Amino acid sequence: MQRIPAPRPADGEVLLAVGAVGICGSELSGYLGQSSIRVPPLVMGHEAAGTIIDGGGRLADGAPAVAGQRVAFNPLLVCGTCDRCRAGRSSICRQRRLVGAHLAGAFADMVAVPAAQCHLLPDGISDVAGSLTEPLACGVRAVALAGAPRRLLILGAGPIGICCLVAARAAGIGEIAISDIAARRLALAHRYGASATIDVSSADLLHEAARLAPDGFDAVIDAVGAGATRLQALRAVVPGGRVVFLGLHDETTELPVNYVVRQEVELVGSFAYTADDFGRAFALLVAGALRPDADWLEERPLSAGAASFEELLAGRARATKIVLRPA
Ligand SMILES: [Zn+2]
Ligand SMILES: [Zn+2]
Repeated sequence: MQRIPAPRPADGEVLLAVGAVGICGSELSGYLGQSSIRVPPLVMGHEAAGTIIDGGGRLADGAPAVAGQRVAFNPLLVCGTCDRCRAGRSSICRQRRLVGAHLAGAFADMVAVPAAQCHLLPDGISDVAGSLTEPLACGVRAVALAGAPRRLLILGAGPIGICCLVAARAAGIGEIAISDIAARRLALAHRYGASATIDVSSADLLHEAARLAPDGFDAVIDAVGAGATRLQALRAVVPGGRVVFLGLHDETTELPVNYVVRQEVELVGSFAYTADDFGRAFALLVAGALRPDADWLEERPLSAGAASFEELLAGRARATKIVLRPA
């Protein structure tokens, strides 16, 4: 923990007293100093909600920002004017910047963000719940990029896998199978409406996938990003189907590309979200589609941040998700 000057909101920005900020898997590599976009000295933290204490401007819905309002914010800042933004692909904006990576983030008492990135939290939706909008938005985008599969397989039932599941249910996908090595996570997936779960600690994924969907899954989302899951995704998808790579566990992976050629498999990467995806995730969250229940999410003070990173890296954390509370 360090004392640093409080951020000062620029024009159109609000200063938030951070109420809750989730630890994202992508930040673990930053903690280890292995992230190309998270270069110290840096305040990380991009999954956050809090209370406006200063600044001004207009919120995402156009209403004026007022001190005392509680908001969740979209941490991906995009230009809105480049060719990619204009084509509806703002997640790959030429000037994208992420709060907590390119700019000071929310593992702090305060963070400054553009008011237009903020969504007003209704009473009854806590800051901790609000902080889940960001990972849920990642799920919304991955599901959108999966097309409209009849049968979807999600590899990994960690926070991002569960967010994909919630988004897939909301998108009306009928058959959703999900795999993980942890029984606790698979139980959670059941509660969030998975049609089938595959415990890969005891069963072979491809064998089970073939049993559940003899004709193959129309789309597979890899929410892990390890070499093994990337290969499984390729093998489990139906010829002509689509694989969405979302997890970032391994930097590089060797894959049988000749199989991709011969089976015309589509390989798609999914990064973050557009403003529309974020808005959709926010609406889902407000509707209660994803809840910060104690059986999967643990709240800790900000001072427990370093220890929490260590636990997550060592695989010792009991909770699927850890959310820090600076207040
Ligand atoms: Zn994240
Ligand atoms: Zn742009």
